[in-house]
Amino acid sequence: MLRRIVIVGGGSAGWMTAGLIAAEHRAAGGLQVTLIESPDVPAIGVGEGTWPSMRDTLHRIGVSESDFFRECDASFKQGSRFNRWIDGGDNDYYFHPFVLPQGYGEVNLPAQWQARHPQIPFADLVSFQPHLCTQGRAPKQAQTPEYAAVANYGYHLDAGKFGLFLRKHCLEKLGVHYVPDHVVGINSHQNGDIASLQTQKHGALEGDLFIDCTGMQSLLLGQHYGIPLIPQQHVLYNDSALAVQIPYPADEHPIASQTSSTAQSAGWIWDIGLPTRRGIGHVYASGYISDDQAEAELRAYIVQTGGPQDIPQPRKLTFDPGYREKFWHRNCVAIGLSAGFIEPLEASALAIVEMSAAMLSDDLPATREAMDIVARRFNEAFTYRWERVIDFLKLHYVLSKRRDTPYWRDNTDPAQTPERLRELLTLWQHRAPSRSDFYRIEEVFPSASYQYILYGMGFRSNFSRASKPQEAGMADGYFQEAAGLTRKMLGALPDNRTLINHIKRHGLQKI
Ligand SMILES: Cc1cc2nc3c(=O)[nH]c(=O)nc-3n(C[C@H](O)[C@H](O)[C@H](O)COP(=O)(O)OP(=O)(O)OC[C@H]3O[C@@H](n4cnc5c(N)ncnc54)[C@H](O)[C@@H]3O)c2cc1C
Repeated sequence: MLRRIVIVGGGSAGWMTAGLIAAEHRAAGGLQVTLIESPDVPAIGVGEGTWPSMRDTLHRIGVSESDFFRECDASFKQGSRFNRWIDGGDNDYYFHPFVLPQGYGEVNLPAQWQARHPQIPFADLVSFQPHLCTQGRAPKQAQTPEYAAVANYGYHLDAGKFGLFLRKHCLEKLGVHYVPDHVVGINSHQNGDIASLQTQKHGALEGDLFIDCTGMQSLLLGQHYGIPLIPQQHVLYNDSALAVQIPYPADEHPIASQTSSTAQSAGWIWDIGLPTRRGIGHVYASGYISDDQAEAELRAYIVQTGGPQDIPQPRKLTFDPGYREKFWHRNCVAIGLSAGFIEPLEASALAIVEMSAAMLSDDLPATREAMDIVARRFNEAFTYRWERVIDFLKLHYVLSKRRDTPYWRDNTDPAQTPERLRELLTLWQHRAPSRSDFYRIEEVFPSASYQYILYGMGFRSNFSRASKPQEAGMADGYFQEAAGLTRKMLGALPDNRTLINHIKRHGLQKI
C-alpha cells in the first residue's frame, strides 16, 4: 500500500501539491506527507499571476480566501490586456477576459461580430469583463461569499508570501511533516524505484512515492532518472526575464484588474498590480536582444506608465523553454518547474501545477502495481496539455502584423509555426474556433480563449457558409445582454482597492 509520500521542494509547486494531497487523503487514514525544503536553495520567487482555477485549488486545500488576501498581498485578476501586439502602435490593444462570451456556443458570435460590428473589439462586444477591467472594478461585492464570483476571477499574488502562507497551513492544519534540509543523494531499490532521499542532517528519508518539486534543476526526474527536456525554443524564443518590484506613487493608488502584457522589440513586459506594489518584468529572447537593451526597454516602460526613474536593480532569470519527455517515471513524479516551463505569457505554469496536483490527488494509486497505470495516463494527459500550451502561446505571436525587428519577423514566419497550430489556423480561415477543436474534458484553454486571441489579434475568418436567418437576432440579443451586464455591474461593483481593504478589515463570508 502507498503510505509515505515525500515531496522535495518548498516553492509554490511543492506546497500546493502537499496541501492538496494532505487535505484530501490524510484524513482517510494512514497517509503521511513529508516535504523537504533546502535552506540553501531559495524558491524562484516569481509567478504572480494565476487563473480562476486557483480559487478551486485554495478551497480544496481548505484555506480561507480572506486570510489569503491578507497574507499574500493578493489582488483580483480578471484576465489579460495585450498592448502593442497587433501592429506595435500606441492604440493597439485587446483583452483576453476570464468570462466566456455571452451566448457562447449558442450562436456563431464571431461571424455576427465580423459582419455587423467589426469596428468594436471582439471581446469588448461579447463580454462585460473588459469594461470592468478598464474601470478597475472588482469581480464581486463585499457581501459575495469567499471564492464565489460575480465575474470570474483568479488572483495576482506575492509569490514569496504565498509559499509561506501555504506552508503555515500545511504544517498547522494538515499535519504535513516538514524537513528543512538539503537532499544530497538518492538511494534506489534494485528495480530502479527510489527507496529514500539522503539529506544532510536528517539521514535517509524513505518513501513510496516521491514528488520532484525542485524547480528547474529537476533533481529527481531530470538529474537522477535522466528524463530529458523536449526543447521548445525553436517555437517560443523567450529564455530570459528581468523582474522588478516598484512602489505606487501613493498608498491608495488604484489596483489594476488584469495583467498587462506589452509587446517590446524582442519580448514583452508583464505588469501586475498588487495592493502594495507593482510587479513588472521584461521577458525576452537573448538571441535577439542584449540584457542591457532589455533593461533599457524595461526602464522606459516603467517611466511611461507612471513609475519612478530610479528603480532597484532588476533581477535576472533565465530558463530553457521546454517540457520533460515524461513527467512520471517509476515512483517519481515531477510537478512545477521540474516538469517544464515555457514562458510566463498567459500564466499557465501555476495552472499546470494545479492540474498536476489535482490529477495526482484524484488518482492517487493505492499500490505500486496501480502506479504504473496512473503514471501512463498522467504522462499522456500532460504531454497533451504542454502541446496545447505551446500552440496557444505561439498563437499570440504568429498573428502579429509587426515586422519591425528580426524577433517579430521570425515569430510570424509560417515555417516556424508548429504543424498542429498551422492546421487549426487553416480550419479557422473559414470558421471560428469551436469546442470540437478542443474536445477533452479538461482542456488547458477553452475554445473561447482561442477566439479572444484570434479575433483580438485582428484575424478575420471568411465565414462563407450562410448563417441561419435567426442568428443575427440571437447574436444581437447576446451583444445587448453583454452591454446590459456592463451597465449593471459598473453600477454595483466596487473598485479593487475598496473591496480588498474591506476584506482585510472584515473578511468575506465563509462558504
Ligand atoms: C520569469 C518568470 C515569470 C513567471 N510568471 C508566472 C506567472 O505569472 N504565473 C504562473 O503561473 N507562473 C509563472 N512562472 C512560473 C512559476 O514561477 C513557477 O511555476 C512556480 O513558482 C513553481 O515553482 P516551483 O515550486 O516548481 O520551483 P521553485 O520555486 O524553484 O522551488 C524549488 C524548491 O526546491 C527546493 N530544492 C531545490 N534543490 C533542493 C535540494 N537539493 N534539496 C531540497 N530541496 C531542494 C528549493 O529549496 C525550493 O524550495 C514564472 C516563471 C518565471 C521564470
